[in-house]
Amino acid sequence: MTFQSTIYATLIWYYYICPREVWLMSRQLTPSQDNPFIDIGRYISEEAYKRERKEIRIENIVIDLLRKEGDNVVICEVKKSSRFEKSAKMQLAYYLLRLKKLGISATGELLFPKEKKKVSVTLTKEIEEELISAQRQIKSIIQMELPPPVRRIKFCSKCGYREFCWS
Ligand code: SF4
Repeated sequence: MTFQSTIYATLIWYYYICPREVWLMSRQLTPSQDNPFIDIGRYISEEAYKRERKEIRIENIVIDLLRKEGDNVVICEVKKSSRFEKSAKMQLAYYLLRLKKLGISATGELLFPKEKKKVSVTLTKEIEEELISAQRQIKSIIQMELPPPVRRIKFCSKCGYREFCWS
């Protein structure tokens, strides 16, 4: 099977939740849209921080908010919950890495408006190395003929692919 193995930020997100989701996403198998959590996420993302919203696009990256603090650029991602904090952190770090490659030095902030929580993200050497390894793993997952086997994890019950995996 031929497949365009471009690594998108979305795949970084899924990789830290479930490798099987990476494979399914890579085959353009869209998760169920009647998953209520998808709509709640959209609503929070659209309504929260409306006044300071400055969504920007760089190549295939969409950044929710951007602000300047002196010489420092801060990019922010709005998330509905910190349940997937590791995924969110690595996805934001991936944006920082992409910006770094474009010559833009930035730091990140994850915003969880519902929880009134904010997490700073800095692109350290360790995180950079972890991202490089994650991208390598993602590439090998999407080159697999079949998806990784199902493995029940705590996120399955709210996953858009749950019917695909478990019915
Ligand atoms: S339902 Fe579970 S095993 Fe299937 S893709 Fe989602 S998280 Fe992974």
